[in-house]
Amino acid sequence: MKIEMLPVFEDNFIFILIDEIKKEAAVVDPAEANSVISYLKKNNLTLTKIFNTHHHFDHVGGNKELKQLFPNVEIYGSVQDKNRIPFQTHFLNHNDKIYFADESAEVFFVPGHTLGHICYFFSLKNGEHHLFIGDTIFGGGCGKLFEGSLEQMFNSLLFLRNNLPDNTLIWTAHEYTLENYLILEKLEPQNIEIKEKLQKVIHTLKSGLHTVPFLLSEEKKVSSFLRWDDLKLQNITSTSNSFDTFCFVRKFRDNPPKIVKPF
Ligand SMILES: [Zn+2]
Repeated sequence: MKIEMLPVFEDNFIFILIDEIKKEAAVVDPAEANSVISYLKKNNLTLTKIFNTHHHFDHVGGNKELKQLFPNVEIYGSVQDKNRIPFQTHFLNHNDKIYFADESAEVFFVPGHTLGHICYFFSLKNGEHHLFIGDTIFGGGCGKLFEGSLEQMFNSLLFLRNNLPDNTLIWTAHEYTLENYLILEKLEPQNIEIKEKLQKVIHTLKSGLHTVPFLLSEEKKVSSFLRWDDLKLQNITSTSNSFDTFCFVRKFRDNPPKIVKPF
Protein backbone atom coordinates (compact mmCIF):
# COMPACT_ATOMS: atom_id res chain seq x y z
CA MET A 1 0.00 0.00 0.00
CA LYS A 2 1.41 3.34 -1.09
CA ILE A 3 0.42 6.63 0.62
CA GLU A 4 0.29 10.00 -1.13
CA MET A 5 -0.67 13.33 0.38
CA LEU A 6 -2.39 16.19 -1.42
CA PRO A 7 -2.11 19.63 0.18
CA VAL A 8 -5.36 21.57 -0.34
CA PHE A 9 -6.89 24.84 0.88
CA GLU A 10 -4.63 26.85 3.16
CA ASP A 11 -3.24 24.06 5.31
CA ASN A 12 -5.29 20.83 4.81
CA PHE A 13 -3.97 17.45 3.74
CA ILE A 14 -5.91 14.76 1.89
CA PHE A 15 -4.37 11.29 1.96
CA ILE A 16 -4.63 8.81 -0.91
CA LEU A 17 -3.99 5.12 -0.21
CA ILE A 18 -3.07 3.15 -3.30
CA ASP A 19 -3.39 -0.52 -4.17
CA GLU A 20 -0.89 -0.66 -7.01
CA ILE A 21 -1.81 -4.20 -8.05
CA LYS A 22 -5.55 -3.63 -8.41
CA LYS A 23 -5.11 0.02 -9.44
CA GLU A 24 -7.55 1.02 -6.71
CA ALA A 25 -7.46 3.93 -4.30
CA ALA A 26 -8.96 4.89 -0.96
CA VAL A 27 -9.01 8.44 0.30
CA VAL A 28 -8.77 9.66 3.88
CA ASP A 29 -10.73 12.86 4.63
CA PRO A 30 -11.38 14.32 1.17
CA ALA A 31 -11.70 18.01 2.01
CA GLU A 32 -12.69 18.58 -1.60
CA ALA A 33 -13.04 16.45 -4.72
CA ASN A 34 -11.17 18.17 -7.56
CA SER A 35 -7.63 17.46 -6.42
CA VAL A 36 -8.56 13.84 -5.67
CA ILE A 37 -10.23 13.34 -9.05
CA SER A 38 -7.30 14.75 -11.01
CA TYR A 39 -4.86 12.60 -9.02
CA LEU A 40 -6.94 9.47 -9.68
CA LYS A 41 -7.24 10.24 -13.39
CA LYS A 42 -3.57 10.99 -13.79
CA ASN A 43 -2.67 7.69 -12.14
CA ASN A 44 -5.47 5.65 -13.68
CA LEU A 45 -6.97 4.64 -10.32
CA THR A 46 -10.52 3.68 -9.30
CA LEU A 47 -11.77 5.01 -5.97
CA THR A 48 -13.28 2.21 -3.86
CA LYS A 49 -13.30 3.60 -0.30
CA ILE A 50 -13.46 6.86 1.62
CA PHE A 51 -12.31 6.88 5.25
CA ASN A 52 -13.62 9.90 7.16
CA THR A 53 -12.26 10.71 10.63
CA HIS A 54 -15.03 13.16 11.58
CA HIS A 55 -17.84 15.23 10.14
CA HIS A 56 -16.21 18.67 9.67
CA PHE A 57 -16.60 20.10 6.16
CA ASP A 58 -12.85 20.25 5.54
CA HIS A 59 -12.77 16.44 5.95
CA VAL A 60 -15.94 15.35 4.15
CA GLY A 61 -16.40 18.18 1.61
CA GLY A 62 -15.45 15.91 -1.31
CA ASN A 63 -17.77 12.99 -0.41
CA LYS A 64 -20.71 14.05 -2.59
CA GLU A 65 -18.81 14.65 -5.81
CA LEU A 66 -16.68 11.53 -5.37
CA LYS A 67 -19.83 9.45 -4.75
CA GLN A 68 -21.33 10.85 -7.98
CA LEU A 69 -18.26 9.92 -9.98
CA PHE A 70 -17.72 6.53 -8.23
CA PRO A 71 -21.25 5.35 -7.27
CA ASN A 72 -19.94 2.12 -5.67
CA VAL A 73 -17.54 3.87 -3.32
CA GLU A 74 -17.89 2.77 0.32
CA ILE A 75 -17.88 5.68 2.78
CA TYR A 76 -16.69 4.92 6.32
CA GLY A 77 -17.09 6.98 9.46
CA SER A 78 -18.02 6.74 13.12
CA VAL A 79 -21.40 5.28 14.08
CA GLN A 80 -21.75 8.45 16.16
CA ASP A 81 -21.47 10.59 13.02
CA LYS A 82 -24.54 8.97 11.46
CA ASN A 83 -26.43 11.71 9.58
CA ARG A 84 -23.43 14.04 9.86
CA ILE A 85 -21.14 12.47 7.22
CA PRO A 86 -22.54 12.86 3.67
CA PHE A 87 -23.40 9.55 1.95
CA GLN A 88 -21.90 7.43 4.74
CA THR A 89 -22.36 3.69 4.08
CA HIS A 90 -20.32 2.08 6.90
CA PHE A 91 -20.79 2.95 10.59
CA LEU A 92 -17.75 2.13 12.71
CA ASN A 93 -17.27 1.32 16.38
CA HIS A 94 -14.17 1.32 18.59
CA ASN A 95 -11.91 -1.65 17.72
CA ASP A 96 -13.60 -2.34 14.39
CA LYS A 97 -11.34 -3.22 11.49
CA ILE A 98 -11.32 -1.85 7.97
CA TYR A 99 -9.53 -3.36 4.98
CA PHE A 100 -7.75 -1.98 1.95
CA ALA A 101 -5.05 -3.26 -0.42
CA ASP A 102 -4.60 -6.56 1.43
CA GLU A 103 -3.88 -4.58 4.58
CA SER A 104 -6.04 -3.71 7.57
CA ALA A 105 -6.47 -0.90 10.05
CA GLU A 106 -7.94 -0.80 13.52
CA VAL A 107 -10.49 1.88 14.24
CA PHE A 108 -10.28 3.76 17.54
CA PHE A 109 -12.71 6.25 19.04
CA VAL A 110 -10.80 9.40 19.99
CA PRO A 111 -13.49 11.91 21.06
CA GLY A 112 -12.59 15.45 22.06
CA HIS A 113 -12.31 17.59 18.93
CA THR A 114 -15.75 16.21 18.02
CA LEU A 115 -17.86 13.58 19.82
CA GLY A 116 -17.69 11.09 16.96
CA HIS A 117 -14.02 11.46 16.04
CA ILE A 118 -12.27 8.23 15.04
CA CYS A 119 -8.82 7.37 13.72
CA TYR A 120 -7.49 4.61 11.47
CA PHE A 121 -4.41 2.71 12.62
CA PHE A 122 -2.76 0.63 9.90
CA SER A 123 -0.21 -2.06 10.82
CA LEU A 124 1.26 -3.03 7.48
CA LYS A 125 2.71 -6.43 6.67
CA ASN A 126 6.12 -4.79 6.16
CA GLY A 127 6.13 -3.69 9.82
CA GLU A 128 5.20 -0.05 9.24
CA HIS A 129 2.52 1.62 11.35
CA HIS A 130 0.47 4.51 9.99
CA LEU A 131 -2.06 6.49 12.00
CA PHE A 132 -4.59 8.70 10.21
CA ILE A 133 -5.55 10.89 13.11
CA GLY A 134 -7.68 13.67 11.57
CA ASP A 135 -7.81 16.62 13.96
CA THR A 136 -6.96 14.84 17.23
CA ILE A 137 -3.16 15.23 17.23
CA PHE A 138 -1.13 17.88 15.42
CA GLY A 139 2.59 18.48 15.37
CA GLY A 140 3.02 20.17 18.76
CA GLY A 141 -0.69 20.23 19.40
CA CYS A 142 -4.09 18.61 19.70
CA GLY A 143 -7.43 19.48 18.15
CA LYS A 144 -9.60 22.26 19.54
CA LEU A 145 -12.46 21.04 21.71
CA PHE A 146 -15.46 21.89 19.56
CA GLU A 147 -17.76 19.24 21.04
CA GLY A 148 -15.93 17.10 23.57
CA SER A 149 -14.58 17.75 27.05
CA LEU A 150 -11.01 18.13 28.31
CA GLU A 151 -11.43 14.69 29.94
CA GLN A 152 -12.39 13.09 26.64
CA MET A 153 -9.44 14.62 24.77
CA PHE A 154 -7.03 13.71 27.56
CA ASN A 155 -8.26 10.11 27.56
CA SER A 156 -7.99 9.93 23.76
CA LEU A 157 -4.38 11.17 23.82
CA LEU A 158 -3.56 8.88 26.75
CA PHE A 159 -4.98 5.91 24.86
CA LEU A 160 -2.89 6.69 21.77
CA ARG A 161 0.28 7.35 23.77
CA ASN A 162 -0.10 4.13 25.77
CA ASN A 163 -1.18 1.77 23.02
CA LEU A 164 0.58 2.66 19.78
CA PRO A 165 4.14 1.69 18.94
CA ASP A 166 6.84 4.37 18.91
CA ASN A 167 7.53 3.91 15.21
CA THR A 168 3.96 4.93 14.32
CA LEU A 169 3.90 7.56 11.60
CA ILE A 170 1.20 10.13 12.33
CA TRP A 171 -0.63 11.69 9.40
CA THR A 172 -2.45 14.80 10.61
CA ALA A 173 -5.03 16.64 8.54
CA HIS A 174 -3.45 20.10 8.92
CA GLU A 175 -0.01 21.72 8.75
CA TYR A 176 -0.05 23.52 12.11
CA THR A 177 3.36 22.38 13.39
CA LEU A 178 5.26 25.68 13.15
CA GLU A 179 2.63 27.79 14.89
CA ASN A 180 2.14 25.15 17.58
CA TYR A 181 5.82 24.85 18.45
CA LEU A 182 6.30 28.65 18.44
CA ILE A 183 3.59 28.77 21.10
CA LEU A 184 5.02 25.83 23.05
CA GLU A 185 8.39 27.61 23.08
CA LYS A 186 6.68 30.46 24.94
CA LEU A 187 5.22 27.98 27.41
CA GLU A 188 8.57 26.21 27.96
CA PRO A 189 11.30 28.74 27.12
CA GLN A 190 14.04 26.57 28.71
CA ASN A 191 13.15 23.42 26.77
CA ILE A 192 16.06 22.64 24.43
CA GLU A 193 14.16 19.90 22.59
CA ILE A 194 11.39 22.32 21.60
CA LYS A 195 14.03 24.81 20.33
CA GLU A 196 15.74 22.10 18.27
CA LYS A 197 12.39 20.92 16.95
CA LEU A 198 11.54 24.47 15.86
CA GLN A 199 14.78 24.75 13.89
CA LYS A 200 14.01 21.45 12.15
CA VAL A 201 10.44 22.51 11.36
CA ILE A 202 11.57 25.86 9.94
CA HIS A 203 14.17 24.12 7.78
CA THR A 204 11.62 21.60 6.49
CA LEU A 205 9.03 24.24 5.60
CA LYS A 206 11.58 26.59 4.04
CA SER A 207 12.69 23.70 1.80
CA GLY A 208 9.12 23.49 0.49
CA LEU A 209 8.43 20.22 2.32
CA HIS A 210 5.78 19.35 4.93
CA THR A 211 6.22 18.37 8.59
CA VAL A 212 3.61 15.59 8.13
CA PRO A 213 3.89 12.68 8.70
CA PHE A 214 5.92 12.59 11.90
CA LEU A 215 6.89 9.89 14.38
CA LEU A 216 4.92 9.26 17.56
CA SER A 217 8.20 8.71 19.46
CA GLU A 218 9.38 12.21 18.50
CA GLU A 219 6.11 13.86 19.56
CA LYS A 220 6.10 11.97 22.88
CA LYS A 221 9.57 13.35 23.54
CA VAL A 222 8.93 16.97 22.55
CA SER A 223 5.27 18.05 22.43
CA SER A 224 3.89 19.53 25.66
CA PHE A 225 0.54 17.97 24.65
CA LEU A 226 1.93 14.46 25.20
CA ARG A 227 4.24 15.16 28.18
CA TRP A 228 1.71 15.80 30.99
CA ASP A 229 3.68 13.61 33.40
CA ASP A 230 7.01 15.42 32.80
CA LEU A 231 8.00 17.01 36.14
CA LYS A 232 9.61 20.01 34.45
CA LEU A 233 6.39 20.77 32.61
CA GLN A 234 4.39 20.25 35.81
CA ASN A 235 6.67 22.72 37.61
CA ILE A 236 6.29 25.39 34.95
CA THR A 237 2.51 25.00 34.93
CA SER A 238 2.24 24.68 38.75
CA THR A 239 0.26 21.48 38.37
CA SER A 240 0.85 18.12 40.01
CA ASN A 241 -1.12 15.56 38.07
CA SER A 242 -1.25 14.63 34.40
CA PHE A 243 -4.82 15.74 33.75
CA ASP A 244 -4.33 19.20 35.31
CA THR A 245 -1.10 19.62 33.37
CA PHE A 246 -2.82 18.71 30.11
CA CYS A 247 -5.66 21.17 30.88
CA PHE A 248 -3.13 23.94 31.52
CA VAL A 249 -1.39 23.29 28.18
CA ARG A 250 -4.68 23.16 26.26
CA LYS A 251 -5.87 26.42 27.84
CA PHE A 252 -2.51 28.08 27.15
CA ARG A 253 -2.92 27.10 23.48
CA ASP A 254 -6.49 28.49 23.43
CA ASN A 255 -5.27 31.94 24.53
CA PRO A 256 -1.80 31.99 23.06
CA PRO A 257 0.81 34.70 23.60
CA LYS A 258 1.83 36.74 20.59
CA ILE A 259 4.23 34.89 18.32
CA VAL A 260 6.27 36.04 15.35
CA LYS A 261 6.50 33.64 12.42
CA PRO A 262 10.05 33.52 11.07
CA PHE A 263 8.87 33.63 7.44
ZN1 LIG B 1 -12.15 19.16 12.53
